[in-house]
Amino acid sequence: QRRNPGETEFHQAVYEVAVDIFDFIQDKEIYHEAQILRRIAEPDRVVSFRVCWEDDNGNVRVQRGYRVQNNNAIGPYKGGLRFHKSVDQSILKFLAFEQTFKNSLTGLPMGGAKGGADFNPKGKSDNEVMRFCQSFMTELYRHVGEDTDIPAGDIGTGAREIGYMFGQYKRITNRYVGVLTGKGLEWGGSLVRTESTGYGVVYFAEDMLAQAGDDLEGKQVAVSGSGNVATFAAEKATQLGARVVTMSDSDGFVHDPDGFTQEKIDWVKRHKTHYRGRLSAYVDQFKGATFHAGERPWSVPCDIALPCATQNELGPDDARQLVANGARMVVEGANMPTTNDAVKLLREARVLFGPAKAANAGGVAVSGLEMSQNQTRMALREDELQKLLREIMRNIHSRCLAYADPRSDYIDYAKAANIAGFKKVADAMLAFGVV
Ligand code: NDP
Repeated sequence: QRRNPGETEFHQAVYEVAVDIFDFIQDKEIYHEAQILRRIAEPDRVVSFRVCWEDDNGNVRVQRGYRVQNNNAIGPYKGGLRFHKSVDQSILKFLAFEQTFKNSLTGLPMGGAKGGADFNPKGKSDNEVMRFCQSFMTELYRHVGEDTDIPAGDIGTGAREIGYMFGQYKRITNRYVGVLTGKGLEWGGSLVRTESTGYGVVYFAEDMLAQAGDDLEGKQVAVSGSGNVATFAAEKATQLGARVVTMSDSDGFVHDPDGFTQEKIDWVKRHKTHYRGRLSAYVDQFKGATFHAGERPWSVPCDIALPCATQNELGPDDARQLVANGARMVVEGANMPTTNDAVKLLREARVLFGPAKAANAGGVAVSGLEMSQNQTRMALREDELQKLLREIMRNIHSRCLAYADPRSDYIDYAKAANIAGFKKVADAMLAFGVV
């Protein structure tokens, strides 16, 4: 508390990992002596900077930009940039900390970082977004590089923003290198990156179900969010035979008892991403659906809940409601969408829980593949990348199983993922000595 005052989300994330790895490290003196967890919980570096830009009316605006480089023990820093009005140091430190374990779980050589700014892209013109992104990169370029730190997109940062930032990096440095991932296909991007997080979430859910002798066919799925992760998770779940009955945005949720078909999901993608519209308009398009203003979707009965919007969007009351409605599984698409209290309730009710650091790692994994393609200046084919994504998700699931308690018939995926992610980073840090 004294070292990181007021950083609620950061405390939450560190506490969750500390509790889970306690059993694993308690008889391993070497980790204690080396203070490994304390070292991972102290970011290597937090850079904060002023971002000045001019709006369309000529007013000067001032935002605060950040890059939190948490840990580079197993590879260069890697993690997204979030542009959202709620962004602060606590949120970015929690995300960078979590990213360290997630990247470790992918099996690829990537350290953990996160960044962004308290800039709200909503309602801004393209030119305003461009001027903001250029100003942001005018400072960020000093701290990143293809072998140092490779940022990507996150909430509020999609292909448009990555384009403006990549253009500015190239202009300042006169170097055409893979300094960002999530780039357009014409200028160094990778096929399959757009769908990778959402698809990966559903692959992870599929593997959890298979482990329990079940599959997705006919399952009722509640999804929250209607952005990148949510729409592609809904798409893959539908392709694999499930029925997705909800999606949401920050105004409320849509319940469509007939299910979100591919046509409906395509409409959501176009409407939210291309036209930057509100999800409430869905009910004017598709009969039988209802919009629930200011509410989250967890009251709708489902077998599987996929929270894919934002942190702390599934609390204890939501968990109780899901349990009461007979949900079997919660798999996180967003980062830390489930509060620690809610996770505890789900565990007690033996609801299978797929934690973000394992379940949503498909996105950063394909980003890692984008980095390799940029370094070799060779592009992989779509079928190769789809296959690699599937394999990576299966391997993450296996890594979790390797650290699950063999004496229990309930697989505690959150605990296992924390231990598996921690061990690789911790062992690398031990090899480097006290640095
Ligand atoms: P998008 O910006 O594409 O979509 C975010 C969605 O969540 C939107 O529907 C948005 O609604 C909703 N949302 C945002 N804030 C809130 C809030 N406070 N309350 C309710 N709804 C909210 O982001 P992504 O889909 O990329 O990211 C979603 C989550 O997944 C984040 O936690 C992100 O860190 C995580 N993630 C993303 C990855 C990726 O590859 N994109 C990779 C790994 C994790 P509205 O339109 O109203 O703002």
